[in-house]
Amino acid sequence: YIKQVVKLPHDLLRVLVEGLERSELVGLEQEDPFLMAETVGVEEDGAQYGRSLREAMYRSIRELFQRYCLESGRISKDLAAKILNIQNLEELVSQISVNVPLSYQNQQKILEALTLEEQYEVLAAILTNEIEVLHNTADTAEEYRDKLKELQASKEVRDKISKEIDRFKSMNSSAAESSVLSTYIETLLDLPWDKKSEDSMDLEEAWKILEDGHYGLKDVKERIMEFLAVRKLTSGGKSPILCLVGPPGTGKTSVAKSVAEALHKKYVRICLGGVRDEAEIRGHRKTYVGAMPGRITVALQQAGVSNPLMLLDEIDKTSSDYKGDTSAALLEVLDPEQNSRFNDHYVEVPQDLSEVLFIATANDMEGIPRPLLDRMEVIEVSGYTENEKEHIAREHLIPKQLEVNGIPKGKLTIQPAALRKMITLYTREAGVRGLERTIGRICRKAAREIMENGQDKVVVNTKNLDTFLGKSRYSYLMANKKDEVGIARGLAWTQVGGDTLQIEVNVMPGKGELVLTGQLGDVMKESAMAGISYIRSVADQYDIKQEFFQENDIHVHIPEGAVPKDGPSAGITMATAMLSAIIDRKVRADVAMTGEITLRGRVLPIGGLKEKLLAAKYARIKQVLVPKENKPDIQEIDAEILDGLKISYVDNMKEVLHEALAK
Ligand code: ADP
Repeated sequence: YIKQVVKLPHDLLRVLVEGLERSELVGLEQEDPFLMAETVGVEEDGAQYGRSLREAMYRSIRELFQRYCLESGRISKDLAAKILNIQNLEELVSQISVNVPLSYQNQQKILEALTLEEQYEVLAAILTNEIEVLHNTADTAEEYRDKLKELQASKEVRDKISKEIDRFKSMNSSAAESSVLSTYIETLLDLPWDKKSEDSMDLEEAWKILEDGHYGLKDVKERIMEFLAVRKLTSGGKSPILCLVGPPGTGKTSVAKSVAEALHKKYVRICLGGVRDEAEIRGHRKTYVGAMPGRITVALQQAGVSNPLMLLDEIDKTSSDYKGDTSAALLEVLDPEQNSRFNDHYVEVPQDLSEVLFIATANDMEGIPRPLLDRMEVIEVSGYTENEKEHIAREHLIPKQLEVNGIPKGKLTIQPAALRKMITLYTREAGVRGLERTIGRICRKAAREIMENGQDKVVVNTKNLDTFLGKSRYSYLMANKKDEVGIARGLAWTQVGGDTLQIEVNVMPGKGELVLTGQLGDVMKESAMAGISYIRSVADQYDIKQEFFQENDIHVHIPEGAVPKDGPSAGITMATAMLSAIIDRKVRADVAMTGEITLRGRVLPIGGLKEKLLAAKYARIKQVLVPKENKPDIQEIDAEILDGLKISYVDNMKEVLHEALAK
C-alpha cells in the first residue's frame, strides 16, 4: 500500500510503498506502459518451532545485530535500541532485514527465503559476513596507521592521510568507493615526501664517471662539469634545468644517467613523447573513474626519494590539445617559484619538487614550447663521425654487448674492416643505437655458435659479415658517379640527424608552369618560386630567351627517401638544379650545398650545419657550399668532421653557380 508520494524534478515521482504480503512471481502479463504480473501468494510458514529453537534463533540473531551495530556504526543508537527491544522473533528478523543497509542481491535472498528458519539462516549468514568484512577493514586501517607512524612527512600530509584512514574505516568495505580510497591511501603512504638521499659533491669522481662511460662528447662533458661545479658552489641551490638536444642514439640518456651516478642520485625517467593530455602530467581527480596520479608522481614513487634526478625524455614531443595544456603543466613542474608545491590532482596534497634535479632531452629544439625553452640551458649533442662510431663501438658497445650476451673475453673478434662495414652499410644514423643493436645480433649469433657448435672462437670479417647480419641494408646514397644536368645535391637537417637530398629538375615544353612534386613543404615551395624569380631576373646573363618561361614547364622533384624538415635551406640547391636544366649545363656530382636564397640571389645562413656536414662526409661529397654568414659556425666544428671536406663560402648565387656548375 502507498505510504508516500514525492514529486521530483524532470517529471519524476518517487513512491514509497509497503508490502502487505509475500508473493511469488508466476509470469509477466504486461510490460508496457507498466509492469503487471501474475503472482501467487506465499502461504504462511505453517511450521511450528519448538520453544528452545525459537529462543536460540532469537538470541543469536540479536547478538549478531548488536555486534554489527557496534562495529559498523551505521545504525543510529536509537534505532538499534528499539530493534534490540523487540521480543517477537519474526518481528526482529524482519526489522533487521529492513534496517541494515544491504545490497539488492542480499535483499532478494532474504525475500526468497520462505520459512522463518530459512530467513534466519540467510540473515545470520549475511550479518556474519558483513561483520567479517568490517573486521578486515579495521585490520587494513590499523596497517595504514602503522605505516603512517613511520612516514617522514609534513604535518599537512600526515593530517590528510590520517583523515582519509578514518574515512576508510567508517566505510562499507564492499563498496567500490572503499577500494578507490584504499588505493589512494596506499599511494600517499608510498610517496617519498621528506625522504631524501644524500648527494655527492665529488667533482673528480663525477669527471671520471662521465669520462669512463662515454667516448668523445668533449663539449658536453665540459658543460656538465661546469654545471656540477656551480651546483657545488651554490650547495645544490636552484640550478638551471639542463636540456640535451640532439639526434637519437647520441648518448643523451646515457649522459644523464652518468650525472645521476656522479651525484649519487636516484635516477628516474619519464617519457613525454606523445603526451597530449595535461592529466598525464598532473593526474586525474579522484572522482574520475579509473583516476590515477600523473607521471611526475609515479616517477617520485618509483624513485622512493624526493630528490632524484628526473629525466624528462623527448620534451619536444609533447603536444597540447583540447584536454588542456601539457606545456603549462610542465612549466609548473619546472618553475622553482611554483614547484615546491606541485599539485597533482589525484594526490591533492602539494608535493615538493624543488629538490628534484631535472634534465630534459629533445631531438629538435624547435619542438620545445618557447616558455619551457626559456627555463632551460641547452646543451647540443651532435651526430658522430664514422671514426667516433668506431671508437664508441670498440670501447663501449662491444664490451657491453659481450657481457650482456655472456660471451667470455677473447671468444669473439670483430675485425676493424667488418666494423667499418657495419657502420656504413648496415646502419644509417647519426647516433649509435642501430650500431649497438647490430653488434648485439652478432653477439647472439656468436653465442650460439660457441654453445651449440662447440666453436672455440668466432671471428667476424668482411667476408662472413653477411652470414651474421644478412645482406647489407643500405647502399649509401653516395655522391653521384658523374656530373649531370638538372640534378643538384642539397643537405638537409632532420630530427634524426643530417642527410643529403637530391633535387631533380626537368624542363619540358608547356605553358610556363612550375610543377613541384615529392617531399616539399610550403616553405620549400616558396623558395623554389624565389629561385625561379631570381633566374628570370638574370636570364639575359645566361642567354635564356624571355619566351622560354612562357613556353616551357619546369618540374622540380625531391625523391621520397630523405624526409627533410620543411625549411628554406634547399633554396640555392633548387635554383642551381633549375638553372642547370634550363641552360643545359651539368652540375658537379661531388659538390653539395645548403643555403637560403633571396629574390635577388643573395645567400642567407642556415642551421644544423654540423649534422649536414656529417651527412656530406658519409655520402663521400668532396666540396660543400656554405653561406658566408655561417663561417663562425664552421669554426666551432671539430676538425675531424671537416677533415677531407673542402668548404667554400658563398654570398650570392653567382658564386654558387661558379662552384657548382661543371666547367
Ligand atoms: P639518446 O638518449 O641520445 O637517444 P642513448 O643515451 O640511449 O641515446 O644512447 C644509445 C646507446 O649508445 C647507449 O647504449 C649509450 O650508452 C651508447 N652511447 C651513445 N653515445 C656514446 C658515447 N659517446 N660513448 C659511449 N657510448 C655511447
